[in-house]
Amino acid sequence: MNLVDRRDFLRHLLTAAGLALTPFDRLPFGKRQIAMAQQPRRIIVMGAGLAGLVAAHELVKAGHQVVVLDAQLRPGGRVYTLRDPFADGLYAEAGAARIPDAHDLTRGYVAEFGLKLVPFQPDEPTQSRTKGKRILGPSSQAGGSLGNAVWDDDSLVEALHNVGPEEPIQRFDKIDGGNDRLPAAFAARLGNRIRYGAPVARIEQDEQGVRAIVQRGSGREVVRGDFLICAIPFTVLRGIDVSPSFSSPKRRAIEQLNYSAATRIYLQSATRYWATSGQSGFAILDQIETFDATFGQPGERGIMMLYTLGDLARRLERLTPDQRIQHGIVEAERIYPGMGANFEGGFSWCWSEAPWARGAFAVYLPGQVSTLYPVATRPEGRVHFAGEHLSSWPGWMQGALASGLRAAREVSGRT
Ligand SMILES: Cc1cc2nc3c(=O)[nH]c(=O)nc-3n(C[C@H](O)[C@H](O)[C@H](O)COP(=O)(O)OP(=O)(O)OC[C@H]3O[C@@H](n4cnc5c(N)ncnc54)[C@H](O)[C@@H]3O)c2cc1C
Repeated sequence: MNLVDRRDFLRHLLTAAGLALTPFDRLPFGKRQIAMAQQPRRIIVMGAGLAGLVAAHELVKAGHQVVVLDAQLRPGGRVYTLRDPFADGLYAEAGAARIPDAHDLTRGYVAEFGLKLVPFQPDEPTQSRTKGKRILGPSSQAGGSLGNAVWDDDSLVEALHNVGPEEPIQRFDKIDGGNDRLPAAFAARLGNRIRYGAPVARIEQDEQGVRAIVQRGSGREVVRGDFLICAIPFTVLRGIDVSPSFSSPKRRAIEQLNYSAATRIYLQSATRYWATSGQSGFAILDQIETFDATFGQPGERGIMMLYTLGDLARRLERLTPDQRIQHGIVEAERIYPGMGANFEGGFSWCWSEAPWARGAFAVYLPGQVSTLYPVATRPEGRVHFAGEHLSSWPGWMQGALASGLRAAREVSGRT
């Protein structure tokens, strides 16, 4: 299949059966908020990722009583800025890294919370290499467009992630100070409505209400509500008891939805030596994408990040952390000679191994778009569903936000 055929094929996959923008998705930011509640309800939100946070935020504004339960000790889920492993206050993203220009919801909430966007990458040529052939392309193609690619299976997965229902991405930005500032801003507004260290192990519902059973050490706590928004990945939902069981089509969707793996390797370098040889630090290769994670951050030191998806990410998961770093140094040396001499230390992150994610993001396979998507988004009794996987933008913060707003509106409209 040549490049154009492949591109059309991918668009077809994404728009064929459900991932095209819904009328609700087309509403501009500011028109998706929900009306004041006629009858305030008690709503449990499972998951303090962006989907759960935005749902909780808008439901509170509409007058509902909300409790958010998250298994971890921080908000944000897959928006996770790594700070501790690195020197000089430098940071790098484990998950969401870049915000396309068309993502109005993400940009809208960034503005609502007074956060600042800065460019994700310099406005310089980006190195691309496919099957050993090196190509220079405009930086706007880095990680966003379908240009310059001869796809193998991994880059197909990446392309699926990078295509949104809207048309070409012209630029990317990121949040000054780290993308975790967005979930942190939601969390600050929600205050003690969020309960951390609260993994939900079981969901029960009947005519009176819904109950989330939280497992804390050897103890169990029952949290009661009128409705529940389940904003956790299906990979994790697979391990949760549900009584009575969800319908069999829903169970099938939860079991079968495909998720990509993603592994990132971070190399702290004594200098950003690649810049002195005229390289931006951003490159797209056959199976690896590189970011200068520290682009725009002050200081001499830098963090080169290697980003892999699909099969290569899975192969890297099977290595020890040290082996991953060694692999990263060899690859970085090949792309930007000099890493060996500048390397200070490294870190890696595998999303499939993260217990509360167990995968990077949903990648609907051809048959799954038409068979799983409609049923995956549908409520089951008092339980509604949100998350990047249940949106027109799977694998993006925009998708998580859109799904959370949709679920909040569904719940708020119930009597
Ligand atoms: C490698 C990678 C690269 C990405 N790149 C980008 C990018 O460049 N730009 C972009 O916009 N987006 C990007 N994304 C996507 C973006 O990060 C996600 O779409 C978004 O953060 C998902 O939000 P969510 O709320 O749906 O899920 P999550 O963020 O996963 O939130 C789910 C929450 O539920 C909690 N939870 C799980 N199980 C339980 C339980 N049993 N009980 C209680 N709580 C539980 C988790 O702790 C978590 O906080 C990327 C993601 C990854 C992984």
